[in-house]
Parts: sequence; structure tokens; C-alpha cells
Amino acid sequence: MENYKLLTPGPLTTTKTVKEEMLFDRCTWDDEYKAITKKIRFELLEIAVASPKDYTTVLMQGSGSFGVESVLHSTISGKDKLLIISNGAYGERIIKMAKCIGINYISFKLEYDNVFKTCDIKDILDNDIEITHIAMVHSETTTGIINPIEEIAKISKDYGKILIIDAMSSFGGIPINVQNLEIDYLVSSSNKCIQGVPGFCFVICKIERLIKCFGNSKSLCLDLYDQWKSMDKDGQWRFTSPTHVVAAFSKAIDELIEEGGVEARNDRYKKNNCLLRSKLKNIGFDAYIKEELQSPIITTFLFPSENFDFSDFYNYVKERGFVLYPGKLTEVNSFRIGNIGEIYEEDIEKVCNIIEGYMGGEKHE
Ligand SMILES: *Cc1c(COP(=O)(O)O)cnc(C)c1O
Repeated sequence: MENYKLLTPGPLTTTKTVKEEMLFDRCTWDDEYKAITKKIRFELLEIAVASPKDYTTVLMQGSGSFGVESVLHSTISGKDKLLIISNGAYGERIIKMAKCIGINYISFKLEYDNVFKTCDIKDILDNDIEITHIAMVHSETTTGIINPIEEIAKISKDYGKILIIDAMSSFGGIPINVQNLEIDYLVSSSNKCIQGVPGFCFVICKIERLIKCFGNSKSLCLDLYDQWKSMDKDGQWRFTSPTHVVAAFSKAIDELIEEGGVEARNDRYKKNNCLLRSKLKNIGFDAYIKEELQSPIITTFLFPSENFDFSDFYNYVKERGFVLYPGKLTEVNSFRIGNIGEIYEEDIEKVCNIIEGYMGGEKHE
């Protein structure tokens, strides 16, 4: 297989040094390994700007969706009702999970290129006092739209609700002050902006909430409370932990800190994203999301013409060293380019030149 860089938002391109951490097989119950788990849990709180007095990190095996599902299973009891705000496929995945688990929920669905209006959410909460929890995706990776996290946090706080944020594709790449926003549960995973490899997810939990969740979960494996209690005791995961992934993730956090933390990473991602969008605009690609709602994570581009052949385009770009992402919209033809991971301006320049070459007709040769 030819080597390529991923312009997909997770798994993403990681550094060689992160990958090298996986060349050694660690023992799950050895103290040195447990110390890595403790380090990660502590550092994730620092990244979340959350005090260990009020917050704790629970790591969970599986991809990001397992983390979201574990929160739904473990924190919403039979007496609760969940409001799910959705403007993309990941919001819809939360709805599907709620249905599957049998949670009492309502959904508020928006167009994929739109964010909620405060008055609409307030209306829903005013008219349905049964609602106890609110769930929303922060950066909707479906389109690249960014949802107003400060506003939902304020509403949730004013109404005394419990707030669940899927910050999968934003945490570590966009500053989020979990403590100030008083987010109750924030979920992300190892293979997004922290720039680790896939294999586990994590939940930043407000302790005063989580402590009340004993016995809620109808799933043994996804029981966030139980996982927390076990992990808190001595740093050991319940059941086998993804040792290689955990070691690589610890290294990835070190490298995030070396880069200058979340702010510095956010700057790099923003620069990548602005460059990408302006260069592609000049080549003839329009972005689906308007600029003020666009995240610095991933961009959806519309096909430049009706007869645009995405798979031909994809192969052309892949042969030259970059992998793109198909679109996830049903009503318009689109594709996506992620700009997170070990990706720099020179990579963006390069991929844009390749795309320009393709549009210039090189493909017809
Ligand atoms: C990546 C991602 C997830 C998790 O997806 P998995 O396939 O389970 O890793 C959830 N929500 C958002 C917004 C994501 O970007």
C-alpha cells in the first residue's frame, strides 16, 4: 500500500513518535501502566480547564460512540427525559441510541447548515418541564458546522438541566472551558484532536452528577459509574484496556503540550482551514457551511459541477498522497476535507495544488 496522509477527521495522521509508543507490549496490572492511566486522566482535566475537585475523567474502551452511549446508559434514569438537539448525522446517532436504550427523549432537528436559536430551546424547555437532560454535538463532523456551546451551556444552567456534550471532534482542537461552562458530561475520543490512534474514548464528568448514577446502566460494559469506581481505586480499567493505544495517547498529550496546548493547536487548525477554504474557492469549490459557522476541523465542499466524478477525483488525490472524505449529505453532492492531525500549511498547499492539477484537466491524459 502506498503511504498517504489522512485528511479525514479521525482516524487522522499521527506523528511517528506517537506510533512508536506502540512498539512495546505493556502489562495491564503493572504499576507503571496504571500510572499512565492516572496521568492521562489528570491531563485531560487540565485540557478541559476542570478542577479535579469538581470533575473526573473516565476512560472507556471502544470508539467515540461507545462513550456517548455509556453516558446515555449511565446518567439517564427511568424518571428522566432527554432533549436531543440535532443538525447532523452524529446528533441523529444520539437519537438512535436513545431509542435503542429506551430512554424517554424528544429531539429538536435542524437543517444541517443551521444552528439552534436560543428562543426555540427555551420554548421547548418552558413547554416540557419533564426534560431533565440536554444532549448536543459541539462540532458536527457531518458538515463541519460548529454549534454554540456557550449558549446551550447558559440555557442549560439557567433551567437547571444536566448537559451532555459530544465534543468528539473539537476537544483538544478548540478551547472548551468545561468548568466555567458547567458542562456535566463531555465526551471525546483518542483519535481526534488529541491526535492519538483509535481505541478508546473518555468522558469528563462532573462528580456531583456522576456520584448519583449508581445502578442506572442497563449495560455492564458501558457502565460509566462502575468504570469510574474501578479506575479511581488504583488506575486499573475494568476489563482489558487497549494498552498500546493508551501509551500512544499519553505521548500524544505530551506533544499537544509541547505544541503550546489547545490554543496553539487551534491556531494551526484554523490556519490550515482558512488556507484550504480560500485556495479551494479560487479553484472553484464552494463550502457548504457559511464562514461564521464553519469549524476549523473539517469542511464540506459542494461538487463543482453535476458530472463531477468523486471516485475518480478521490483516486487521483490518493495516488498523490492524500486521502479525502466522501460527503454525508443527502440533498446535495459533496465531499469533505479534514485538516486536523499532523497536518501543516505545506500539506494544505500540496493537496490544493494536486486538486488544481486535477481540475486543470490532468485527469484526461
Ligand atoms: C468521530 C465522532 C463520533 C464518534 O464516532 P466513532 O465512529 O464512534 O468514533 C461522534 N461524534 C462526533 C461529532 C464525531 O466526530
